[in-house]
Amino acid sequence: MGPVVVIGHDGLDYNLCHKMEMENMRDGEYYPYKSGYMETVRSWTSIYLGTNRHPFTGGWDNWLNHNYSDEPDLPYVWNDINNRGYSIGVYGMPLTYPPFELNGWVVSGFPCPGGKVPVYPSDLGLYINRHMTDIFDTVTSDGSFPRTVSRRHWYIYVEKGGSRLILEFLLNKMKNLKTIWNLMPVDVVFVGFSFVDHALHLGHKNIQSLYKIADMSIGDVKSVLSPSKLLIVSDHGFEGESHTPNAVLYVEGAHLDLGEQTRYEKDIKRDILSLLE
Ligand SMILES: [Zn+2]
Repeated sequence: MGPVVVIGHDGLDYNLCHKMEMENMRDGEYYPYKSGYMETVRSWTSIYLGTNRHPFTGGWDNWLNHNYSDEPDLPYVWNDINNRGYSIGVYGMPLTYPPFELNGWVVSGFPCPGGKVPVYPSDLGLYINRHMTDIFDTVTSDGSFPRTVSRRHWYIYVEKGGSRLILEFLLNKMKNLKTIWNLMPVDVVFVGFSFVDHALHLGHKNIQSLYKIADMSIGDVKSVLSPSKLLIVSDHGFEGESHTPNAVLYVEGAHLDLGEQTRYEKDIKRDILSLLE
């Protein structure tokens, strides 16, 4: 049986998923879910911790300088998963820098400092940094950026409304996920994407092509990992030029018992854990 898979899709918008008729989100169920913060840093950390009572208030520089070892009492969802006896892989999820020790592996997601791809354990990191490129699908002024492409290059593609570069990132990212999965299979895999949010912040205008690629990203993860259960979650929606509260909570291969109750990001951790029961 395949792993339980959680896809974290930054800025994936509930309304746009429906409007674009996502082909790879047809076999499961959407749940009532809103983003209370509508903000990447606080929303993801609430999802990971299951509470909005945490010290992270935003600010990318602060995030890059923080250290997990300074906050040993915060129960991240990956610690809970390990404690239940499951191994875990975390691949490109937002706000997972620096990579941390766990039973499994971590490839940090946005934001990261530039240079080497940050990875736990270090021998997997040596392999990745020797054999892989373009592990990121995101852009910042100083990191989390595909090493073979200049920031200017990205702008040109976005300004033209094109999606070819994002598509190339996706292809590379999936190729790399497949390699890591074959090297170190685990019980639970988190896979993160940030390109929807970032492309829109940079002025990408072609929603249809962007959501086509988002749809492909989900299909690709399914074909690489063959999940037994799949949960897709976003930190907020994004429509027009700004974040919306219309985040996505979607499950395939399982049913969440929420009734009509609307979930917020602080409530999601228990839903992720319930997929392991
Ligand atoms: Zn976000």
